[in-house]
Amino acid sequence: MTEKVEASLPDKEKNMSEWYTEILERGEVVDIRYGVKGFIVYRPFGMEIMKNIIKLYEEELEKTGHRPFLFPVVIPERNLRKEKEHIKGFEGEVFWIEKGGHTPLEERLALRPTSETAIYPLYSLWLKSYRDLPFKAYQTVTVYRYETKATRPLLRGREFLWIETHNVYTTGEEARAQTREDAEIFWEVTYKKLGIPFLHIRREEYDKFPGAVETYAFDTLMPDGRVLQIGTTHYLGTNFTKVFDVIIHDEKGDQKHPHSTCFGIGLSRILASILLIHGDEYGMVLPFEIAPLQVVIIPIYKTGFDNEAIDNYCMEIRDKLAEEGIKVVFDNTDKSPGEKYYYYDMRGVPFRIEIGPREYQNNTVTVFRRDIRKRETIDKEELLNYIREKSKDILETLRKRAEERLANAIVEVRTREELMKYVKEDRRRIFKVYFCGKEECAKEIKNELGGYETRGIPTDEEDKRGKCIWCGSEDAHIAYLAKAY
Ligand SMILES: [Zn+2]
Repeated sequence: MTEKVEASLPDKEKNMSEWYTEILERGEVVDIRYGVKGFIVYRPFGMEIMKNIIKLYEEELEKTGHRPFLFPVVIPERNLRKEKEHIKGFEGEVFWIEKGGHTPLEERLALRPTSETAIYPLYSLWLKSYRDLPFKAYQTVTVYRYETKATRPLLRGREFLWIETHNVYTTGEEARAQTREDAEIFWEVTYKKLGIPFLHIRREEYDKFPGAVETYAFDTLMPDGRVLQIGTTHYLGTNFTKVFDVIIHDEKGDQKHPHSTCFGIGLSRILASILLIHGDEYGMVLPFEIAPLQVVIIPIYKTGFDNEAIDNYCMEIRDKLAEEGIKVVFDNTDKSPGEKYYYYDMRGVPFRIEIGPREYQNNTVTVFRRDIRKRETIDKEELLNYIREKSKDILETLRKRAEERLANAIVEVRTREELMKYVKEDRRRIFKVYFCGKEECAKEIKNELGGYETRGIPTDEEDKRGKCIWCGSEDAHIAYLAKAY
């Protein structure tokens, strides 16, 4: 039986922006009324989802040998200025602290836009020998960038939450292998546990992280056809260890600069992706593992029936599920069942259990699945197994839907004419083309294709060669073109 409550949200596919605003507000995820542009408040429900997401990534990082640490939010100006490319890349986006009370500071302090220049001075004190390596560490923190583009909650802010790793290795080979391990970690959580598919891309030379030798990124697809970068991993070579005098002696006793990597997991954007990709016209649809509320039990009373018996039956089920570690609530407030359905649908509760006289008398439960919006009545004793099994199915359904959308958005195009024809169509796509890798060519593409930009090289197709779709030069590589956030 399919649920027949009226949809109450704007159509996500047609009007994503309005849908998103409604979800954040009605679902009590974040509040945008803090009063400082680009800064938002995570409300309890939003923060509960966020903490569950963070836990998944931190567990995976620790499983692969990363240890937590925590650096100050301020970076002295002299450190931030040390790496030339790095400061060039971030200078326009830095928030500065210039005073303490009424006294001008002797040296300005930056609010970290990213933490390399905070961390490496300490690495030069901690890391002395090849025996100290590999050194793998991460922190889960907020970072600050003075965005000049329009800000949007969770998608683009002046303060955002992320996890950053900063790893150091004796050789470049080991460090490069780390960027591949980063991709696996990202896959393990983002794709397998959160159901968010993404493209693994090597960014073009002109599009690298300031100070990096190689930059890899993870782009996912939003319902409006734009791509969103939700994570990046960088091979930094010895650029930062040289600048900050990190010197180790190797096995032969020779002094050398070790190689390093960093990996950024865009937590704010990942939360936005989960809401936007999985949600529907009734609200959020959350994977079981990160849902702050996993099961809600709603009694359906009937006049003249022993409703106290229904309550007791519900509470017995609630206690049994809670004992198994499931986050469950029994809602016997005096709101109507319809109002309760609306409330929990909006918050993406994966399972709703409805108990009325029929269920009570037959020793059954009626379970409603949020993702496919279908009800099923099962034996009470089977409930726990049912939830365990079906929670995997929910994730599978969400992931498959998202994966199909991503696959359908990608079109291979070989000629400029064909590309122009597609671009004129209303539907946004991700184009897979041959591209020469030159920045001038990329600029022309962006100007003439109304914002479509080069996103980089698919890591599983780095070797293919052909003619640049724009300038026609030979020896071009495969690249994606897309509109992006
Ligand atoms: Zn070209």
